[in-house]
Amino acid sequence: MSTSERNIFNPEMETIDSDGLRALHEERLLRQVKYVYDNSALYHEKFEQTDVHPDKIKTLDDIVKLPFTEKHELREAQQSSPPVGRHRACSEEDLSRVYSSSGTTGVPTYIGLTQHDIHNVHAEAIARVCWMGGVRPQSKVVNIPTAPFIADTFREGIERTGATNIPVGFNVDRCIAAYQYQGADALHATVSFWSYFLGELEKKGIDPKSLGLRTIIGGAEGGAKLVRKRIEESFGATAIEGMGMGEMSCVIWGECVEDRGNGMHYIAQGNVHVELIDPVTLESKTIREGAEGELVYSALHSQAMPLLRYRSRDNVRILTTDKCVCGRTGFRIEVLGRTDDMLTILGVNVYPLAIRDVVSTMKPAVSGAIEIQLEKPGPVVEPPLKLKVEVGKNPGDKDALKKKLEAAIREKLIFRANVELVDELPQYQYKTQLIKKLYE
Ligand SMILES: [Zn+2]
Repeated sequence: MSTSERNIFNPEMETIDSDGLRALHEERLLRQVKYVYDNSALYHEKFEQTDVHPDKIKTLDDIVKLPFTEKHELREAQQSSPPVGRHRACSEEDLSRVYSSSGTTGVPTYIGLTQHDIHNVHAEAIARVCWMGGVRPQSKVVNIPTAPFIADTFREGIERTGATNIPVGFNVDRCIAAYQYQGADALHATVSFWSYFLGELEKKGIDPKSLGLRTIIGGAEGGAKLVRKRIEESFGATAIEGMGMGEMSCVIWGECVEDRGNGMHYIAQGNVHVELIDPVTLESKTIREGAEGELVYSALHSQAMPLLRYRSRDNVRILTTDKCVCGRTGFRIEVLGRTDDMLTILGVNVYPLAIRDVVSTMKPAVSGAIEIQLEKPGPVVEPPLKLKVEVGKNPGDKDALKKKLEAAIREKLIFRANVELVDELPQYQYKTQLIKKLYE
């Protein structure tokens, strides 16, 4: 089989069976634990404080003896030992790239990478997800950074597949030109950009199908399933999304084309080990169908700043651990939401994405865009929850629509909402914000 005919970029890793994966991760974890103990001032201290010596970590199951790592520790480690922090485990000279992590306010947290980390961890995972979405050596990929500071790493991941990378920044005209004049046939961009791009084409009177776009890869915002049908039909393409975390690997999860819409595969085998925990009690949970919890990541193969048991704050549900029709063995998840975005209404945990899903069932009367109005800091919210919902092109009787939405939320999510229908919510080119804080 030639390279471009195979449907899996790294079959050895992506189709590995559970025994093989366990053996590989055990060997790499033991080595990584010893490495950080010897080389990272932060981990050496954390191990000493919790009385964990690498000698006590003998099997993969012993990972639960290791302390968790939290985001605030990384910020503190950086402040106390600039520029990148006390968790650096390589020499400063060996740092090849430094990027800042997303989603923080104030001073960003910086993530250092060695050449090995860039090529064998981050770019490798990006290549796996791009291939999974349909990118092949003959593809020409318009690459719109999902975050500006990781653009270089995505370039390398795309090039690693053998495809041609066409960077266009955030410029829509250049994006269109790449399809019209360079024969581009693929797109890497945030899911928000997919819809934004389609809207811009409509405004310019360009038929999306005329671009010849066949393969669309998105950064996960949990939104692909809401827009996929319209995007795929409009462009005549297939669209999948991936998800990762700058601190660990730009990509850890991705949807396959063959069974898209049924969750994201775990695709960081060999590089990132995944655990599931209860975000409140912090107890480990077994990865099996139906289990829900927060993802906890451990680096297995990193040099610059390997993190162990890093709390992602991403809460997910395991959809299946069965081998997929695409041949991959990585278990599949759906994202429920961020621990930080979780709201507690009448004692029940509610994620903004779940509210958006219920609202979206009323399409096309609504567009699917929502904005939760928070008057006080969460997570506890007194009902009724104030919710702005953007109407679609033909909303019909607005009073009736408001009542239908409120009834659907009450029935499916068991709380009262006060829905305000609006003609337009802010459109986000980069990443959609579902919560509006009114108290800041
Ligand atoms: Zn699959």
